[in-house]
Amino acid sequence: MGKVHVFNAGPSVLPQVAIENAIEALKDFKGTGVSVLSISHRAKEWDATMEECRSLWRELLNIPDTHEIVFLSGGASLQFLYVAMNYLERKAAYLETGEWAKKALKEAAAIGDAYAIASSADKNYSYIPKGYEIPTDLDYFHITTNNTIYGTEIKEDIDCPVPLIADMSSDIMSRTMDVGKYALIYGGAQKNVGPAGVIFAIIRRDTLGKVTRYIPTMLDYRTHIDKLSMFNTPPVFAIFMMNETLKWLKSIGGVEAIHKINEEKAALLYSEIDRNSLFVGTAAKEDRSIMNVCFVMAPGYETLQDEFLAFAKERKLIGLKGHRSVGGFRASLYNACTPEDVLALVNCMKEFENLKK
Ligand SMILES: *Cc1c(COP(=O)(O)O)cnc(C)c1O
Repeated sequence: MGKVHVFNAGPSVLPQVAIENAIEALKDFKGTGVSVLSISHRAKEWDATMEECRSLWRELLNIPDTHEIVFLSGGASLQFLYVAMNYLERKAAYLETGEWAKKALKEAAAIGDAYAIASSADKNYSYIPKGYEIPTDLDYFHITTNNTIYGTEIKEDIDCPVPLIADMSSDIMSRTMDVGKYALIYGGAQKNVGPAGVIFAIIRRDTLGKVTRYIPTMLDYRTHIDKLSMFNTPPVFAIFMMNETLKWLKSIGGVEAIHKINEEKAALLYSEIDRNSLFVGTAAKEDRSIMNVCFVMAPGYETLQDEFLAFAKERKLIGLKGHRSVGGFRASLYNACTPEDVLALVNCMKEFENLKK
């Protein structure tokens, strides 16, 4: 069987070495004779893995001492509520750049005064709004740095006069960044740093404790910071896999090295989309995501959509169907997706063009 090229939006492809190590650990975790699925989360061998994972996060993203890192469950979707519970006292603004941004805002608006400062809904979220002004009386400003469904991305750490909170589910560890600019960065692991079942939250400690509401114990970030993410049973296997994924990332040169590769992969695919007369990209060029590449059949070729998906599948390229709110195709080029995978897709698009023209 030839290699299957996986472009899934999430859960996504993971490095092969992490999978191999997981297979070993499922049988015997660190020579304990116990499977990683059965190891006590209070065992010292497990403590060491938690500590290694935290320090890999710190090292790979250059997380300053002002910030803590926690691993929780409930998905990025539950973090939408955590954000409001822990930070919303008077007023918060959200940048409405897609479905996930809208869902994040909905949770906050149910708790207090939260609104969209700007939106790209007028053009089906195909661009990142610009030119808005952030008021200085906000508790926080919330952005979604990468819009997984629409393929747009805020590629720089913006200057913000109020605490900046970012959902980075689908572009964390894809580029170097200035963590110090954020009060909170959170996301699900299943796009770029691990399997489904665990989320990361990087929290500036002194931004907590400023709201007067009662925060339920499990929804209070301080609970999890104080207990080193082990207030209750953590998602042990998902954290194990995240740790293996980060070990792999470090081994290939870290975030700076993967950023270069990610930029090359994205450039390769976007240039084929722009060259190939059968396809067109859906996102504004200056806002194109390096993680999720969205494109559709060019005008006049719309009826070929399903045929192209089948053509790609025959060549073992899977996960290319676009989200229903955009249609067409989406290729997710997360860290573990290789330049060879992208080349296989580009070649497939060329072959398809030759067949149809
Ligand atoms: C996938 C995704 C989410 C939702 O993640 P869950 O873990 O499924 O709740 C939220 N935000 C962004 C940007 C995403 O890509």
